[in-house]
Amino acid sequence: MHRETKVVVIGTGFSGLGMAIELKRRGEHDFVVLEKAADLGGTWRDNSYPGCACDVPSHMYSFSFEMNPKWSRMFARQGEIFGYLQRVAEKYRLRPHIRFNTKVSGAQWDDEAKRWNITTEQGDTYTAQALVAGVGALHIPNVPELPGIENFSGKAFHSAQWDHDYDLTGKRVAVIGTGASAIQFVPKIAGQVASMKIFQRTPPWIMPKADREINGWEQKLFRALPFTQRAYRNFVYWTRESSALGFAVNPKIMQFAQGIALRHMKKQVPDPALRRKLKPDYTMGCKRVLISNDFYPALGNPNVDLVTDKISEVREKSVVDSSGVEHEVDVIIYGTGFHVVDSFDYLDIQGKGGVDLAKQWRQEGIETYYGITVSGFPNLFFLLGPNTGLGHNSVVFMIESQIRYISQCLQLLEKHRAEELDVRVEAQQEFNEELQQKLTKGVWTQGGCKSWYLDAQGVNRTVWPGFTWRYWMRTKRVRAEDYVLTTAAR
Ligand SMILES: Cc1cc2nc3c(=O)[nH]c(=O)nc-3n(C[C@H](O)[C@H](O)[C@H](O)COP(=O)(O)OP(=O)(O)OC[C@H]3O[C@@H](n4cnc5c(N)ncnc54)[C@H](O)[C@@H]3O)c2cc1C
Repeated sequence: MHRETKVVVIGTGFSGLGMAIELKRRGEHDFVVLEKAADLGGTWRDNSYPGCACDVPSHMYSFSFEMNPKWSRMFARQGEIFGYLQRVAEKYRLRPHIRFNTKVSGAQWDDEAKRWNITTEQGDTYTAQALVAGVGALHIPNVPELPGIENFSGKAFHSAQWDHDYDLTGKRVAVIGTGASAIQFVPKIAGQVASMKIFQRTPPWIMPKADREINGWEQKLFRALPFTQRAYRNFVYWTRESSALGFAVNPKIMQFAQGIALRHMKKQVPDPALRRKLKPDYTMGCKRVLISNDFYPALGNPNVDLVTDKISEVREKSVVDSSGVEHEVDVIIYGTGFHVVDSFDYLDIQGKGGVDLAKQWRQEGIETYYGITVSGFPNLFFLLGPNTGLGHNSVVFMIESQIRYISQCLQLLEKHRAEELDVRVEAQQEFNEELQQKLTKGVWTQGGCKSWYLDAQGVNRTVWPGFTWRYWMRTKRVRAEDYVLTTAAR
């Protein structure tokens, strides 16, 4: 099947759905949304592991134009967020635009026709004036290549591919990693399994989680008087925004938060030897700051062990650590996160003159303009692209800023009757110099850790360095002078 359309959007997470809503809002109905999975929802479809929840309060971690007065908890669980996205898609009648089970395998810019040719693994092709990639930064599971894993005869799965048909009751479990997902599922399954060995490479900083049920009267208030929910959302936004000072401006400010985290640990972990294993040796914020009230107590269960020696080998029925201790296990659960900086390697995008985007980024480093456009790749837009992730606030805020920006770019094309909009290389360079300068002062570089925020050269290609309101302000209006607009000679 071949189809010509104005805009192709990839992905149905917050990004893709938000973009589709904006296109419809501005009266553009000639677009398709391609989704490789059988359902919509992105992160919140894939991560169904026990205990999965957001770690930014739900009143902030949702679309600003589609607030949900019915959130049942401060930090909604996966099912509720998944349901929210489903309802949003129904309300805005997005489903007719979505092609499920359609994985984009490549996109080539046709210099003459000034169109993107998009190919899918299923054999369908699309030609579009604009391509919007909402492919997500955390969606390709990162499964480490443990030596000897091919000999393991038990069960093994990643937290984002949880096997709900596999009963963990009475099983001996190895959990690899103590990141954001592991600290959520460990407490939920610790009481069910026979034994659990948690293999920790680097301990995370863990803050108390201000979670609770939202009362019926609060929900009624939010429904009856939406401005009260808006006010609460603003309160959450500005409270979180203030923490950017420690992340981006002066990492020394983090000492205050570290004190809170250490007191939290002391209260929940009575054993000083275990506390020593759990105490991070880098500045808070260098890696993602986690929140939990039940991870530390779970470690106190008699059937749970924290192993801090590296994994040296996996055998048929065991995991062997670098001290030579053999841990017999029936199942390995990878809480090892996602491919982040290299996630774009999986998309084969060729721009002007056939330049390969992934290759260019591998050779020269990942550079974009505000994480949205890339010089030499006209009419291509990223949502939640490089350097627009966050450690302190809701990325939905960033996504909405980007959607507004892309919408303006499309309007610019129309207004000038242009076929091609390409960011000027000087504008992109200037932006990246400023960006990297700011990042070097931030905790991600100064904090003394290695994290998935950094690429192989230690350059941060993932987070936005600082206040999100600044990003919002700077992307509020597209500066036409930063772009070359070309009309097709057809
Ligand atoms: C467990 C977990 C909890 C999180 N909690 C928070 C939080 O509390 N606060 C926060 O700010 N962020 C959080 N995040 C980050 C989260 O990823 C983002 O908040 C947000 O959901 C990203 O939305 P997205 O639409 O950009 O990407 P995704 O939700 O990842 O959606 C991308 C979609 O694109 C599809 N896709 C990808 N490649 C292709 C292709 N080639 N062809 C077709 N379709 C494709 C995928 O199947 C997917 O549906 C969390 C992430 C995880 C994993």
